Amino acid sequence: MSRLVPSSLALVCAFVAAAAAAAAPTRIPDAAVSTATALRDRALHDDTAWNVTESLTTEVGPRLAGSDNDLRAREWAIAKFKALGFDKVYTEPVTFPKWVRRSEHAAIVAPFPQPLAVTALGYSPGTPAGGLTGEVMLFPTLDALKAAGDAVRGKIVYVGFRMQPHQDGHDYGMGSTVRTHGPALAAKLGAAAFLLRSAGTDSNRTPHTGVTQWEADGPRIPAAALSAPDADLLEHMAARGKPVQLKLDLDCGMDGTYTSANVIGEITGRRHPGQVVAIGGHLDSWDPGTGAIDDAAGVAIAMAAGHLIGELPQRPDRTIRVIAFANEEQGLFGGRAYAEAHAKQVGKHQLGSESDFGAGKVWRMSASVKPEARGAIQQIADVLAPIGVAYDAQRPGGGGSDLSQMHAKGMAALSLTQDGTRYFDWHHTGNDTLDKIDRDELNQNVAVYAAFAYMAAQAKGDFGSAPGAFAHDGAGD
Ligand SMILES: [Zn+2]
Repeated sequence: MSRLVPSSLALVCAFVAAAAAAAAPTRIPDAAVSTATALRDRALHDDTAWNVTESLTTEVGPRLAGSDNDLRAREWAIAKFKALGFDKVYTEPVTFPKWVRRSEHAAIVAPFPQPLAVTALGYSPGTPAGGLTGEVMLFPTLDALKAAGDAVRGKIVYVGFRMQPHQDGHDYGMGSTVRTHGPALAAKLGAAAFLLRSAGTDSNRTPHTGVTQWEADGPRIPAAALSAPDADLLEHMAARGKPVQLKLDLDCGMDGTYTSANVIGEITGRRHPGQVVAIGGHLDSWDPGTGAIDDAAGVAIAMAAGHLIGELPQRPDRTIRVIAFANEEQGLFGGRAYAEAHAKQVGKHQLGSESDFGAGKVWRMSASVKPEARGAIQQIADVLAPIGVAYDAQRPGGGGSDLSQMHAKGMAALSLTQDGTRYFDWHHTGNDTLDKIDRDELNQNVAVYAAFAYMAAQAKGDFGSAPGAFAHDGAGD
């Protein structure tokens, strides 16, 4: 330091330099904000996402991971990315155990014989050929089942947790816990089979499937969901005080392993092609419906957002990467494979968010980013506020289902929370079909994704992605 520089000025200079190096705020240039605003408004009146959803549900339909339609869906996605003008289209392998569903039946055989609408849970083994008949023991909650202990030995266990509809869908936390953990618990207690009231909020005779989880070396028993009206029926019959005998006949089970793939389309960045904004949805679905809300809509929202950015006169500064994930439904296999394959490039992921909660409007945004990027998040929030998105600065962002795995590695992430009030009426049922999607609400999602992805791609500075960042901010979804 020269003695000619007054010491106070030297101190100020040193402070400014240190502050600039340590904490330069991330900023989105004005031009990018106005382009994003125009993108937002264009997306509200663009048919791409609807057309993509219609195409996937019509031309492929149900997309159970590992089924023949798994391959057809990937071929569809590759062709669709190309048709939508993406610069680069490629796949990355995802391997998982394959589960197959062949048939499923249930009926009460005594005291008042009646058929029941039932669906096997993913990873359920089948019953012995010809079915399994036993006495049903009913429990309102998993805790009540736990407390029953040995008493359930040889019985068919039923757990009847009732989900209520909410905008944020929070009852699915317990609903899905009964489904994922109930069968393994009942099996350990010696039960012969497990049934649950569907994890859903409807009153249709459409049972809700979904995956269950076993301990690696633990016992496994046939496990299935009853539709809500059939769960009511069983409860009414049990209330008569006489033993209820039920017959369950499931033909399903494991069938080796299967290698699918994440299908990826990119709009290549012109200044920083190696830095990516990651968006997406999952390509697989459950098999009773056509997987429209779960998750053709998410794939379509992300594809349409990437497409609209690709239609701009100039490529964005950073790459927009749209990922159609393989096998989310049976355990985030696509998301985990992506996070493993890209763990070393976590710092190259500018920001990420996946759409996987239907096609209802986005009503809330939250973020997990470094403190110096909060101003840029506020800029994004300001563009999204006029279309009904409220920024909650107190909540973390989780990145959505599959991308939660990359967030766990340190990717900065948004949560763009959709209105889930009706989502669990149709989720994982035969009623997950195209007619449940409102075009305007779907387009609002595209507007959100296109605007945020473009602004993140144009930002001066980053959002704090680094190995191990955000390890302690909790789940945002
Ligand atoms: Zn999903």
